[in-house]
Amino acid sequence: MGRFKLKCLKCGREYGQEYRLTCENDDSFLRADYFEKRLELRNQPGIGRFHSWLPVQEEITTDAGPITYKSEAFARELGLSNLYIGFSGYWPERKAFTKTCSFKELEAHPTMQFLKETGGKALVLASAGNTGRAFAHVSALTGIDVYIVVPDSGVSNLWLPEEPTKSIHLISMSPGNDYTDAINLAGRISKLPGMVPEGGARNVARRDGMGTVMLDAAITIGKMPDHYFQAVGSGTGGISAWEAAIRLRADGRFGQKLPKLQLAQNLPFVPMYNAWQGKRREIIPELDMKYAKKQIEETYATVLTNRAPPYGVTGGLYDALVDTGGIMYAITREEALEAKALLESLEGIDILPPSAVATASLLKAVEAGNVGKDETILLNLAGGGYKRLKEDYTLYQIEPVAIAKNPDIPLEELKI
Ligand SMILES: *Cc1c(COP(=O)(O)O)cnc(C)c1O
Ligand SMILES: [Zn+2]
Repeated sequence: MGRFKLKCLKCGREYGQEYRLTCENDDSFLRADYFEKRLELRNQPGIGRFHSWLPVQEEITTDAGPITYKSEAFARELGLSNLYIGFSGYWPERKAFTKTCSFKELEAHPTMQFLKETGGKALVLASAGNTGRAFAHVSALTGIDVYIVVPDSGVSNLWLPEEPTKSIHLISMSPGNDYTDAINLAGRISKLPGMVPEGGARNVARRDGMGTVMLDAAITIGKMPDHYFQAVGSGTGGISAWEAAIRLRADGRFGQKLPKLQLAQNLPFVPMYNAWQGKRREIIPELDMKYAKKQIEETYATVLTNRAPPYGVTGGLYDALVDTGGIMYAITREEALEAKALLESLEGIDILPPSAVATASLLKAVEAGNVGKDETILLNLAGGGYKRLKEDYTLYQIEPVAIAKNPDIPLEELKI
């Protein structure tokens, strides 16, 4: 028995329960249409609770999952009476057990299971950090093969809270290659027999995994929040929150108004912010990310520096912002660092740089009057608890199985 179908948001064409990233007619996103229209929580410790709206057959049993709680100290500081924090990371005191410390792990669990259940053998991805770590961890837990291509500068981000397994194939690239080179090499590897590309935002399992942050918030609060704050690089988290809210609206028990997306990028690299300010569906590189390479080098929250985000595509971030009356912010390094120190001291947990950017955007929104003092606000701290994790766990570095000199290297030379 199937649990969902895939539907193209542009032409309406429907597909069955298959690992599919694109429509045959156009380049629009596909969206999962679940047969369960009412969110029925399952008796699982983590993300598996939200099985109703995850594109997998079997319930996911991991204890990793989103948590939501009502902020007291930080909320008081801001003068807000209904501030909720969504946290993805490690914080056992709050029952947060996402040990790779970001919401990328919420994507990795359903994606790997979706792959396995649809007959895929091995997943291929390029990542400079949180995504690679999340998928490596799930590979270690499930034994499903994953091929991760990282630029040299990203290798140190690939640690695990357990001993790495043979199912993790880490391919690093020689110094001088950047993230784009890693993407190109991963693209070539994914065409080998048995290999499947993870697909980024095009993968419904990734989006619906991330969407559980919104679902958890709605369950905890009893309704959808009025506002949703997150820092974005690809925008996938924003799109996911929007799609989850559309499903909650159809469920009927959580309100009818979609949360306003209030999303932040980190200066000087802010292409989506620029395009949105210009009221454009298209990112124009000469206008919105001139000197991209230099800007990326200067950006504090490097996770947010995606050069080709799914912004203008049908079902992408532009559509999500339009549909929710969204707002975007551009945050400086100083604003982020200040917000980080404030939040960490008041809430008592360490957060990753992108979460500092999101926190800074909330401070700005309060100042600008973009939120009401008594409105219900969800601040998505999508990464944190790394320092907290190190108190409890030994971390293991993943060692590369091959080093690629350049993205065009003959694949037989790699011996992977
Ligand atoms: C990836 C990431 C983001 C940005 O997510 P989008 O894919 O752009 O929505 C924000 N915070 C953390 C911690 C991340 O790992
Ligand atoms: Zn289509």
